[in-house]
Amino acid sequence: MTDYENSHEQLNHFEPTLEEETLPGISEGEIIVIRSTRRKKNISAYRQGGRIVVSIPARMSKADERAMVPEMVAKIRAQEAAATMSEESLQTRIGELLSEFAPEITSRPASVNWRAMRERWGSCTGIDRSIRISDRLKGAPDYVLDYVLFHEAIHLDIFDHGPEFKAMLARFPQEDQAEAYLAGYEAAENALAAPEALKKLLNKGA
Ligand SMILES: [Zn+2]
Repeated sequence: MTDYENSHEQLNHFEPTLEEETLPGISEGEIIVIRSTRRKKNISAYRQGGRIVVSIPARMSKADERAMVPEMVAKIRAQEAAATMSEESLQTRIGELLSEFAPEITSRPASVNWRAMRERWGSCTGIDRSIRISDRLKGAPDYVLDYVLFHEAIHLDIFDHGPEFKAMLARFPQEDQAEAYLAGYEAAENALAAPEALKKLLNKGA
């Protein structure tokens, strides 16, 4: 194994192989398979942005790819599940955050759920006091998850993003760092999506 595995340099060498087809149990666009010329035997997988990147040797057969990729994806998911906060813990954590930073909010969420959301980090429905958190945050640092939980928890009382909301959110000590993390995450996701967009552009010109 080399240090190149997670480097951006590698992106110059890859050929996406799963553009039109979707493997069982895998939603479209979630998995990127990289055929690496540097790689002779080993197959590796890692999380990058909202996607799982699987790096396989350039010469691996299609049949082997179909067999191995879901296995690697399952492995990554199992690791993540083991490291993920339970939904009960999320609910408890929201109570702690509100007590500490916004004691005037006395309502508590009726439910907190992980949800596959690409466009948003979280959402809160005031009527039934339900909160959903994007599963892209499953591997995020604690302060980032706390920040998003706190944001949604404030919505239990304040529905808009007006001055009152902003003032309350600003009580979170690492607001700037958390915002920077989320912005960086989105930038990385977009950067990773670029090669395919580029490919479409090139096909159009052909
Ligand atoms: Zn909001």
